[in-house]
Amino acid sequence: MKTADVVVIGGGIVGLALADAWLARHPGTSVLVLEKEPGLAAHASGRNSGVLHAGFYYAPDSLKAQLTKDGNHLLHEFCAERGVVVRETGKVVVTQSESEIPALRELFVRGQVNGVKLELVDEAQLRELEPLAKTHGSALWSPTTAVADPVAVVEALAGRVRERGGVIALGSEVTGAGPGWVTIAERRISAGYVINAAGLYADKVAHWYGVGTDYRMLPFKGLYWYGSWAPGRLQRHVYPVPDPRNPFLGVHLTVTVDGKAKIGPTAIPALWRQDYGGFAGFNAGELASIARTYPSFFRSKDHDVAGLLRSELPKYSRKHLVNQARALVPSVAPADFKIKGRPGVRAQLFHLPTRKLEMDFVFEHGDRSTHMLNVVSPAWTSALAVAKYVVAEINS
Ligand SMILES: Cc1cc2nc3c(=O)[nH]c(=O)nc-3n(C[C@H](O)[C@H](O)[C@H](O)COP(=O)(O)OP(=O)(O)OC[C@H]3O[C@@H](n4cnc5c(N)ncnc54)[C@H](O)[C@@H]3O)c2cc1C
Repeated sequence: MKTADVVVIGGGIVGLALADAWLARHPGTSVLVLEKEPGLAAHASGRNSGVLHAGFYYAPDSLKAQLTKDGNHLLHEFCAERGVVVRETGKVVVTQSESEIPALRELFVRGQVNGVKLELVDEAQLRELEPLAKTHGSALWSPTTAVADPVAVVEALAGRVRERGGVIALGSEVTGAGPGWVTIAERRISAGYVINAAGLYADKVAHWYGVGTDYRMLPFKGLYWYGSWAPGRLQRHVYPVPDPRNPFLGVHLTVTVDGKAKIGPTAIPALWRQDYGGFAGFNAGELASIARTYPSFFRSKDHDVAGLLRSELPKYSRKHLVNQARALVPSVAPADFKIKGRPGVRAQLFHLPTRKLEMDFVFEHGDRSTHMLNVVSPAWTSALAVAKYVVAEINS
């Protein structure tokens, strides 16, 4: 018996956005979202910075460039429709020495090519935008970057999926799947089409279908520290110029939707997939698999892995991390940033044959199935645009 026309594995923002986009395009069809956790937003979608990115970082021919600017617009529209608060912080990208100015200009050019509203500003203009930030010569101003509460967005999206007739089954871990079926709690249910949006486990689910077998997930942990500053003291997100060899943006300061300042996230190699701290979620098999993948990652010519480890591992120390942020906002002090935030883990896909971390979004289609393999940052921003794009591809 066919249980649903479409089964989505994973109820993070990507799975929910796909369910929503499918139902918008095919009203009256049955869509079942299976989420292993008892509540929504338990993983990346509820543990991120909540930054609505503008879309200027990404190579112009990438899916990230194509889908982030639209995703930002669609997410703004969605939040307005659903009454989810968005704080229009904007964002500044600052240099830590004059040697970074060429890279800053390169980001500006990328932004122009990607059609994103951006401005190069001097030190005096930066002081007007964000008096606490420091730069050397120039900075970049992105007025369309914003922030929202990531959990509130996920919950609102789940609400729209339900209103469109979708069913979200919490506490439903998929333990096996193949073309036309999935198994939950030893019960096999049939599905016209399966969409794998399993986040940290997307590679594992894809492998059940023989899809993405050259890929392994390499998780990276993002730690945060909140400041005790009065809300609104920091007004804009403040980011460094990123290292283009790695898919992470470097230590930055963000403003939460209620005006609090927050430092992070780090990109510390995680030892198992749901490695949020302590031994919670410990999985020996995952640890072994990650340990087997690291030697290959180490030999990568495309990433400075030793440099990444040298810069990230010391960030387990709060003082070290806060002092790093000081280069961007000199008034930051370790004594003011002592409140631990909820850590997140990035589901970063690694390609074994080329030894590369995938920088762009990666999704692949299999037999009656689609696999969202690399929907890393800024996929929280891009999710609604990604989902429209993928649903159109499935239907083409
Ligand atoms: C620290 C950090 C900061 C970030 N900051 C930003 C930001 O500011 N802006 C931005 O745009 N993006 C940001 N991102 C990226 C963004 O959070 C992710 O790209 C996005 O949340 C991915 O959504 P998802 O639905 O694929 O993953 P998830 O939220 O992880 O959802 C996957 C779901 O699948 C479920 N699942 C897994 N396996 C199974 C199974 N077998 N059966 C059933 N369910 C299963 C999981 O429980 C989970 O709920 C950040 C990410 C991190 C980690």
